[in-house]
Amino acid sequence: MNRTPAARKNRNPRSSTSGERRRGHTDRRQGPAEQRSDFALPVTTTPLLPAAHAFADMDLPGPLSAKLAELGMEKPFPIQAETLPNSLAGRDVLGRGRTGSGKTLAFGLSVLSRLSGRTASPRQPLAVVLVPTRELAQQVTGALSPYARAVRLRVSTVVGGVSIGRQAGALRRGTEVVVATPGRLADLLERGDCRLDQVEVSVLDEADQMTDMGFMPQVTHLLDRTLPHGQRMLFSATLDRNVDRLVRRYLHDPVVHSVDPSTGAVTTMEHHVLHVAEDDKRATATRIAAREGRVIMFLDTKRAVDKLVSHLLANGVRAGGLHGGKSQQQRTRTLEQFRDGRTTALVATNVAARGIDIADLDLVVNVDPPQDHKDYLHRGGRTARAGASGSVVSLILPRQRWAMSRLLNTAGVTASTTSVHSEEAELSRVTGARTPPGTPVTIPAPAVRRSGTPHGRRRRSGNRSSAPRGGA
Ligand code: AMP
Repeated sequence: MNRTPAARKNRNPRSSTSGERRRGHTDRRQGPAEQRSDFALPVTTTPLLPAAHAFADMDLPGPLSAKLAELGMEKPFPIQAETLPNSLAGRDVLGRGRTGSGKTLAFGLSVLSRLSGRTASPRQPLAVVLVPTRELAQQVTGALSPYARAVRLRVSTVVGGVSIGRQAGALRRGTEVVVATPGRLADLLERGDCRLDQVEVSVLDEADQMTDMGFMPQVTHLLDRTLPHGQRMLFSATLDRNVDRLVRRYLHDPVVHSVDPSTGAVTTMEHHVLHVAEDDKRATATRIAAREGRVIMFLDTKRAVDKLVSHLLANGVRAGGLHGGKSQQQRTRTLEQFRDGRTTALVATNVAARGIDIADLDLVVNVDPPQDHKDYLHRGGRTARAGASGSVVSLILPRQRWAMSRLLNTAGVTASTTSVHSEEAELSRVTGARTPPGTPVTIPAPAVRRSGTPHGRRRRSGNRSSAPRGGA
């Protein structure tokens, strides 16, 4: 496969003129109306390769095509159909839109195809995927590992909150692809355990959250150490000022794929604002949590999460809590329990708001309203994924009504608004709320795995791909 196509060699140097054209805007101040309307997308100047509507029509290595078929990926999602022909030819990519659109495979297949047949030297990965949270890092590694194994590439996860020694060890042994949170990767660079000067493809996933979380300095520090003419792909739900800076600085005439307007709600998603009374709010949340299907509930603080989880367990609702105060092992276990159905209510702070892909989740509840419209969209993005439908329900106290309606307005979301009481049929109609069983439950801890992987996979000898290990 031609890894250095003419299109890439001949791409426009970043002259100020082409830069202005790509940017499609000048540096204007972000007024209130623009807080939600984003910066303009860059305009691609080099002609694009046409979309490929079958994986068979893409220039993928045979083992990757076989793995796609084996895992039931029958045809590419739009983001994959449009970007892969171009990213496989070496072009940079800017993907904007909601999560759940298939972006992991959109960049993953491109990275793995490019590196297929290559071997990284110790401490010198060839590709780096930067993500904002540990959970997303594990999810990306988990999603890519079967494909990486198929082309005998090693994927390592590098995140904070777990032993740095083991991650340094994996890098020392050599790994072609590193999926990392920026802080921990920067630490490993500083310790001399990793160098990025052989990195020829870099991916920024959920770039807006990375910048919101204050990772901008680390992200630029890391990208500046990768090969200057390397391929870069950036995915972000919103294209705000900080992301726009990254786009301008690091992407060269990218292929742009915009799934939905970033402000726009997914059409398969319903939004409900439920006005509740302060003294009835917990009962309302409890009855919703007791519904038949699964639900993610968002609260403001770690303490509030812990309190609601205890209350739900005491009332017979199989709940788990996820927040930044938990160890990585606990967080991984809680997500696994929710994924495999041992729990049905996941109660979380914003830590779980982005990127996490839980299949068949049709309800997200803001027990506490989000801080801003971006949080709202990202929390909601846990449902209605991959074309499925889902509802976002916000429980709003009288004093929160005004702020909530402003937030929805900024998010560009139209919600139906109803006043409800926990016992009302309307609550059940919208959320499936029902009386909780009442008999206390405990969620058994899973059997301890030896240096276990989050997905229960162990490395087999001769298999060069490593699944994320031990919460790493
Ligand atoms: P992502 O946006 O990468 O988190 O992907 C959302 C979900 O869509 C994941 O569960 C993927 O496994 C699934 N998915 C991605 N691409 C495809 C495809 N081409 N066909 C079927 N499912 C897919």
